[in-house]
Amino acid sequence: MDTMRAVVYDRPEHFTVADVPVPEPGPGEVRLKVLVAGVCGTDAHLHVGEFGPTYPLTPGHEFVGEVVALGDGVDADLLGRRVVVNNCATCGHCVECRRGRPVFCRNVAAQGVNAPGGFAEQVLTDADRCFVVDDLEPEVAVLTEPVACVVHGLDVLDLVPGSDVLLFGAGPTGLILTSLLARSGAGRLVVAAPTAAKLELASARGADVVVQLDRADPEGSQAQLRALAPDGFDVVIDATGALAVLGTTIGLVRDAGTVFVYGMAAEAAEWPVSPYEIFRRELTIKGSFAQQFAFDRALSALRNGRVDPVGIITERFSLDEYGDALAAVADSSVVKAVIVP
Ligand SMILES: [Zn+2]
Ligand SMILES: [Zn+2]
Repeated sequence: MDTMRAVVYDRPEHFTVADVPVPEPGPGEVRLKVLVAGVCGTDAHLHVGEFGPTYPLTPGHEFVGEVVALGDGVDADLLGRRVVVNNCATCGHCVECRRGRPVFCRNVAAQGVNAPGGFAEQVLTDADRCFVVDDLEPEVAVLTEPVACVVHGLDVLDLVPGSDVLLFGAGPTGLILTSLLARSGAGRLVVAAPTAAKLELASARGADVVVQLDRADPEGSQAQLRALAPDGFDVVIDATGALAVLGTTIGLVRDAGTVFVYGMAAEAAEWPVSPYEIFRRELTIKGSFAQQFAFDRALSALRNGRVDPVGIITERFSLDEYGDALAAVADSSVVKAVIVP
């Protein structure tokens, strides 16, 4: 039997890079040779057993590959093509799918979360979840899933044109948000983050003002932001998932404004919010999770340069270096790490 290398978890915080059988595509499926797979904050949550993993698990939900084998019924034209994959197979028949909200599918099989993902030499997927990207470099195409999640975030946010927007976070997601917010009607976009090099990338993507946060002086940082918008920002976006940041959002948003929870906090984390303030100030708190129907728009944004991929991927690791890749996610000098099997 042919074998391949893959990251395999058998329980939280315990993985090996193992030789496993090369899977054979069933009807409607294709097998990809993985070219590049993105590592993201979600993988760090999965590492500790959050976000609903099932075991054994091969993570990796952002991947680009070359189609090397076809199951029955798949168009032969797909063979040899470079594709990106919507990692979520939804059931189509649960109550949420039938309401056109597959992001909440009760029976979702999410590759890299509760189904085999892309931190492997090869991976199976459904042909109808593949998008052909022969025209994009693999390190550009691998950003499609995170861009699709941002596109979905903008669907949910429903930004009023001309809004004064404060965005916390200049990691890969913060930078993609910066690119698309700057081009979708923000009147002013302020980006706040602790790392100067990442703020430079945000400026290059259209941030009007950047503020370097001082972790040792959170009150000083908040005063600096408050001085930029004494009446508050129309929209405050958290793309960090950090409770220390979330705790400042209500104090920085304008009356009748919106706090947008885009970053992923720890599952058990709680954030105290005053119901009286929400009532008295008519505040809105919104969240955005994953994506639905956004891959084609994400590809349009990447193909037309609305999202600038330059400088986002800063570290490349082999499968055997998966532990180092996970450590890189927590390293503030790294923007985004990828696995190149
Ligand atoms: Zn991700
Ligand atoms: Zn469903």
